[in-house]
Amino acid sequence: MSQLLEKFQDYLNEMKQYNHIVTLLYWDMRTCAPKLGQADHVEALTKFSSKSFEMGTSDELGRMLDALSEPQEYEALDDTWKFIVTRMKRDYDRDKRIPADVYEAYVRAQTESGNAWEEAKNASDFSVFAPHLEKMIAMTREIAGYTDPGVEVYDALLNQYEEGMDSATIDRLFSELKEELIPLVDKILAAEQPDDTAFCACFDTDAQRKVQGMLLDYIGFSRDAGAVGETEHPFTLNFSSRDVRVTNHYYENAVLSSIFSAIHEGGHAIFEQNVNPDYNGTVAGSCRYMGIHESQSRFYENILGRNRNFWTPVYEKLCGLLPQLAEVSEEDFYREINHVRNSLIRTEADEVTYCFHIILRYEMEKAIFRDNVPVKELPALWNQKMQEYLHVTPENDAEGILQDMHWSDGSFGYFPSYLLGSIYDGMFLDKIEEELGSVDVILAEGRIGEITKWLNEKIHRYGSTRTPKEVIEKVCGKEISSKPLLGYFKKKYTEVYRL
Ligand code: ZN
Repeated sequence: MSQLLEKFQDYLNEMKQYNHIVTLLYWDMRTCAPKLGQADHVEALTKFSSKSFEMGTSDELGRMLDALSEPQEYEALDDTWKFIVTRMKRDYDRDKRIPADVYEAYVRAQTESGNAWEEAKNASDFSVFAPHLEKMIAMTREIAGYTDPGVEVYDALLNQYEEGMDSATIDRLFSELKEELIPLVDKILAAEQPDDTAFCACFDTDAQRKVQGMLLDYIGFSRDAGAVGETEHPFTLNFSSRDVRVTNHYYENAVLSSIFSAIHEGGHAIFEQNVNPDYNGTVAGSCRYMGIHESQSRFYENILGRNRNFWTPVYEKLCGLLPQLAEVSEEDFYREINHVRNSLIRTEADEVTYCFHIILRYEMEKAIFRDNVPVKELPALWNQKMQEYLHVTPENDAEGILQDMHWSDGSFGYFPSYLLGSIYDGMFLDKIEEELGSVDVILAEGRIGEITKWLNEKIHRYGSTRTPKEVIEKVCGKEISSKPLLGYFKKKYTEVYRL
């Protein structure tokens, strides 16, 4: 190994230590630090993350990346290190183009905007958030001008979360979906709806914790490389493939919410636990493509978790832990977990109408960045689109435009990832059935491990080394299309609702 590569690896190793502490502090803050201890944690977190940021943008790192990119050094690297050097150099050059004072102002604006959003949401008053949203939009535009000169702003933003993705592709995918989903949902809603009274009962939260544990074990979450915590909003966090943690929230009156959050976060975690361990602590590891990441969590949550046969091997256990379900047949349980309703809140939506929640947000973001619609007109536009797609109108902005935090910290372009994930899932499902046989049969026979193994080998192990387009190309050998997802929806819901 060249001296230079060794020096570079030592440098990355040191950066990894700072990131480890940052991750640990964040986990501790979110899961157990007491209220009075939070401020000290924030101070330590800021200290360690600025150290990691400094190392990631230092001239020393720039010089090493330049030197390693010289043909003589570069050609001697193996494929993994070639990827790491190329990717880091690209990101480094991109970040370096942002003037330091602009970046600092952006970080400050992000915090202020996050606080304002929280206040606005609690008071259901958009005007509190509006000036901050205006600022976040303007600063996002300005920064994209530095990082991606010559690229249309919204395309640059989409590309940040799902590399290689652009609005022309998303326009095509989403309009394919829209065209067929609107009449399908109309038909579903006109059909007889399942009876949900049994699910409105009170479910013990300790029992829900046990259900989560049972489900994580069932789908293949590794206990040796994983831990579980509790937070207001469920999330997954990873140190490396050897330590991946999930959280959940338990409400006595919303048992299905904790069940499906458990499976969803479990899906994210199984992905991270199965990334090639050689990539740990480098940009090759932990998957940074949000659409691909969501495709895995949503595959477990929806394609598997909302399949009737997923529950066959564990339904008795589930009823043992949640005695209220003893009265509910497996068939009624299946119908309720696929109950389609037009609703206001994205995170509570079923898998079909969820698509409209994302299409709406995508169109809003295009209205902001392409059509320059003024911020003060956004709530009305939101409500108009809710009426158009979901036939409901929010009574206030808290259950309308203020419901998600994404825009408050400048995560414009993130929302489409969720639906791209489901679109990929339709394609993965087709491919799995082609190679392994019927998923219904595999699940009914309790062989879910075979599906997990397939996903591990085809997708998870590559971490960030394959871009979304490469994943689709290598795994499915086809161009990305919404047709498989539509086929899945039509087949499934025609049966569930006896259309
Ligand atoms: Zn997710």
